Amino acid sequence: MKITSKLPNVGTTIFTEMSALANAHNAVNLSQGFPNFQTDQRLSDLVTEAMNKGLNQYAPMRGVLVLREEISLKFKRLYNSTYNPESEIVITSGATQAIFTIISAFVHQDDEVILFKPAYDCYQPAIELNKGRVVPIQLEHPNYRVDWQEVEGKINSKTKMIVVNTPQNPSGTIFSKEDMLNLERLTKGTNIIVLSDEVYEHMIYDDQSHQSVCLFPELKKRSFITASFGKTFHNTGWKIGYCCAPSELMDEFVKVHQFNVFSANHPIQVALAEYLKTPEHYLELPKFFQQKRDLFLSLIQDANFDFIPSQASYFQLLDYSKITDENDVDFAIRLTKEFKIASIPMSVFNENNLDFKVLRFCFAKTDETLKAAAAILNQIA
Ligand code: PMP
Ligand code: GLN
Repeated sequence: MKITSKLPNVGTTIFTEMSALANAHNAVNLSQGFPNFQTDQRLSDLVTEAMNKGLNQYAPMRGVLVLREEISLKFKRLYNSTYNPESEIVITSGATQAIFTIISAFVHQDDEVILFKPAYDCYQPAIELNKGRVVPIQLEHPNYRVDWQEVEGKINSKTKMIVVNTPQNPSGTIFSKEDMLNLERLTKGTNIIVLSDEVYEHMIYDDQSHQSVCLFPELKKRSFITASFGKTFHNTGWKIGYCCAPSELMDEFVKVHQFNVFSANHPIQVALAEYLKTPEHYLELPKFFQQKRDLFLSLIQDANFDFIPSQASYFQLLDYSKITDENDVDFAIRLTKEFKIASIPMSVFNENNLDFKVLRFCFAKTDETLKAAAAILNQIA
């Protein structure tokens, strides 16, 4: 049978590949971004309770209203920003589904979508499946700063969307207030939609603050925010998240959402609504993850890798150019097989696989795992 692929250049994701390689070689796995500790028992109990109460049939299409109300309260509390729970918030099967649905709902053939590289891997295939054109803007290691003049030069009448991701995966950097003001200035008066992927909003360190698009009134009008409970509450396998946008954008989103997934997992939504009533559950995250970052970095301070401490997310970049000039994919594979430590090569997120000789390590791991990883990294000369 002849299959004409819609994604001829796409293989298996690097996360699947590296985790499989880590398992095959019994390596310490700091590659794919997921915690190796348990989600809060209280949250698991709330899910069980909801199941035992019989909440096992379809949830409402936009999500359980009490959960949307709690999310709305969170936006009010953290950003003094109002999203109407009835019309401006939808619960999704993870941020991935929200992102795919947003792109499918708005990107037409030949529309241009600006992507900052390195970029998380799910944006580009979704744009290509919808016959949009990716307009890449490559950022440079180690600071990954945006040149807004360059962005201005790429915006034209075909620009349909700009994807931003702050805190950024994989670089662990954040957009400043000035960055957001530039984005607001450049999109004002246009029909450009901003897809703001904010899944790491609660993982931000050294007393810096998250610059959500909802803090900027003109930006908010044209933006979707995507979020992931999997990231926030250490249960990436539950695949549940949400998105927010002004109602006229959300109505268009929902046209696709209802046929893409219809609705997300019901008992988990009911449990999350209760769990979100305690804001400490997310407010304590910066401290929790900063301790992990600091532990990891203090243990490898004498290793042969160079680094700038991650500002946000749960990823730390390590520059290995003092060790070898091998390309990053080969080096990541060799580290996994020979040294038993798995990471993600950064080039897979860059335009034309640009290789800065940098690997990404996930520090959402038990202290024991971080110590084992550091002991290995310290031996690599
Ligand atoms: N965006 C970014 C930047 C991510 O790192 C991830 C990975 N979890 C996602 C979106 C997808 O989130 P989810 O697992 O909720 O689909
Ligand atoms: N977001 C996770 C990461 O960056 C991986 C998610 C996935 O495997 N698709 O590692």
